[in-house]
Amino acid sequence: MKCVICKQGETYDGTTTVTLERGQTTVVIKEVPAEICGNCGEYYLCEKVTEKVHKLAEQAVRHGVVIEVLRYAA
Ligand SMILES: [Zn+2]
Repeated sequence: MKCVICKQGETYDGTTTVTLERGQTTVVIKEVPAEICGNCGEYYLCEKVTEKVHKLAEQAVRHGVVIEVLRYAA
């Protein structure tokens, strides 16, 4: 698909690192499957992946950690 941010690049299938902040907690999730823009590097997550990423983030928040680094597949 065409990138909606830069409107120039085409996206390709790859993986990316997603960083989320919830209050005091920062969650870094590596190797998240995504569509990535070849031009500006913006990434797009499908609905299913977004859901899982948010679930992983919420777990970390519940554990009360300051920073959590996870691998998506784990
Ligand atoms: Zn782009």
